[in-house]
Amino acid sequence: MLKGKTALVTGSTSGIGLATARALAADGANIMLNGFGDKDAIEKERAALEKEFGIKARYSPADMSKPAEIAAMIAATEKEFGALDILVNNAGIQHVASIEDFPTEKWDAVIAINLSSAFHTIHAAIPGMKKRKWGRIINIASAHGLVASAQKVAYVAAKHGIIGITKVVAVEAANDGITCNAICPGWVLTPLVQKQIDARAQASGQSPRDAEIALLSEKQPMHSFTKPESIGALAVFLCSDGAATITGSSYSIDGGWTAQ
Ligand code: NAD
Repeated sequence: MLKGKTALVTGSTSGIGLATARALAADGANIMLNGFGDKDAIEKERAALEKEFGIKARYSPADMSKPAEIAAMIAATEKEFGALDILVNNAGIQHVASIEDFPTEKWDAVIAINLSSAFHTIHAAIPGMKKRKWGRIINIASAHGLVASAQKVAYVAAKHGIIGITKVVAVEAANDGITCNAICPGWVLTPLVQKQIDARAQASGQSPRDAEIALLSEKQPMHSFTKPESIGALAVFLCSDGAATITGSSYSIDGGWTAQ
C-alpha cells in the first residue's frame, strides 16, 4: 500500500517509534529513522529494515530539541528519497515531579522534545506535502493529551498542546490531500515506562511485577499493556485510503483509561 512513499519517524530507535517504523516499512514505505542510542544497534535496525522489507532505510541523528537540526533532517530526507510523505512525530521524554519541585530545565526539555519539535517538523515538511497534494502527519500524543495525572506537568502540557497542533494542521491542510491525526496511547511497555515502574518498585519496596500491576490498575480498566506494534498498525491505517477523510482526530488506544 505504501510502496514508493517515504516516512520519517522521530524517536524511532526504540519503543513505539521503532515499532511504527517497522509497521510502515512492512507496508512498503521507505524509512528515515531518528533518535539516540548505540551506533551499532541503530545500524543493525536500519539494515534489518532494508533486508526484511525490501525498502530503503536511512538514519538521522538529529536532536529534536534543536530546530536547526530538525530543519536539516527534513531537508536531508527530501533530498535522499525525493519526498517526505508520512511524518510521525513520536520522540518524547518524561520527567516526574510535583510542580513545585519540577526543575525549569526539565520543563524546557520536555516542551522542546515532546511539543515544539512537532511544530518544527511540520513547519518544514508541509510545503513539500502541499506541493505533491499528499501527506499523512501522525502525532503520538498520549492519554495525557486528554486527561491529567499528578507529577507530570510538562508532559501533560506538551501532550495537550500536540493535540492542539494536530487540529490546527488538519484544518489548515484540509484541502491539500493532507491529513493530521493524533494517537493517544495508554500504558505501553517501553523503556520510557519501564523507568517509571522501576522508580515505583524502588520507592514502595514492591516487586517489579507488583509495581507493574499497581501502575496499570491505577489508570486503566484493562490491566494489560498496549503493544508498540498495535500503535504501528493504527499508524498504517491512518495512512491508508480508507482513512483519507479522517483528520484532526485523536485516537485513544488506552485499555479504557479515558473512558472513565
Ligand atoms: P522510548 O523511550 O522507548 O523512545 C523514545 C524515543 O525518542 C527514542 O528513540 C529516543 O532516542 C528518542 N528521543 C528522545 N529524546 C530525543 C531527542 N532529543 N531527539 C531525538 N530523539 C529523541 O519511549 P516510548 O515509550 O516509545 O515513547 C514514544 C512516544 O510515545 C513518546 O512521545 C511518548 O510520550 C509516547 N507515549 C508513550 C507511552 C508509553 O506508555 N510508553 C504512552 C503514551 C504516549
